[in-house]
Amino acid sequence: MSCVFCGGAPVTKEHVFPQWLNEHLRPGRQRTEQARYGNGAYDKTRETVGLDFTVKKVCAPCNNGWMSQMEVASRDVLTPLITGQDLSLISLPQQRQIALWATKTAMMADQTQHTPLLPSHHLRRLRTHRAIPGGTRVWIGGCPQREPLVTSLTVKVDLTNVSAPGSPQPVGFYCPMKIGHLCLYVYFPAVDVVIQHAREFHLSVARIWPRRSSTLPFPPPVQPQDGEAFEYFADALQESLYFYTPEEAAQHRLKES
Ligand SMILES: [Zn+2]
Repeated sequence: MSCVFCGGAPVTKEHVFPQWLNEHLRPGRQRTEQARYGNGAYDKTRETVGLDFTVKKVCAPCNNGWMSQMEVASRDVLTPLITGQDLSLISLPQQRQIALWATKTAMMADQTQHTPLLPSHHLRRLRTHRAIPGGTRVWIGGCPQREPLVTSLTVKVDLTNVSAPGSPQPVGFYCPMKIGHLCLYVYFPAVDVVIQHAREFHLSVARIWPRRSSTLPFPPPVQPQDGEAFEYFADALQESLYFYTPEEAAQHRLKES
């Protein structure tokens, strides 16, 4: 097994959710939930001390180098959003940092699967250029309840309605995660499409990637009330997504949401 980001060896254990989040956990054992799609699918809940969700697919130089630097650079931006719900303005550089961190974390969650969905060249370009894969969408939202500290799932999505008849069906990837009060929804459609969510979500989520043009007031006025509601909300958001080819979008002057 070689490192999924650089091809180096040997690989060591890397935490899917960084260890600095542990300081926001309540003392004692935690309930963590882990889900796997496809072959051997499962959804299991277990008790752990700290966030011990790991994957052995990253080398030490990546783990202790650029990935660690990314955690350091993201922590100050993320912490107030994870721990509180004070009204704030998220600047454009902060939005990019949050989107980058969400992308990296979603990639790690994908690596816990038997057959990861994201192509390896995207992981390599994240390491070399801190590049968020083309087509990736990241939406941000909030939740008034801080616990459970981490809820995340990875979902494989078939984009049946966007491929021409007879052409290979694109397989996308969706990874919603609730980290304390902060909710992030990472969506990777795998094909060039314009995406809109249903109107009812406008007050609950805001897109932070691709880049917006202004600072973002946060948190949004409408939020799923707790961890369980977050899971339903994340599903409903995904099901509400509409896909348009770039030509269709241009023709109807549709704007991405
Ligand atoms: Zn590496």
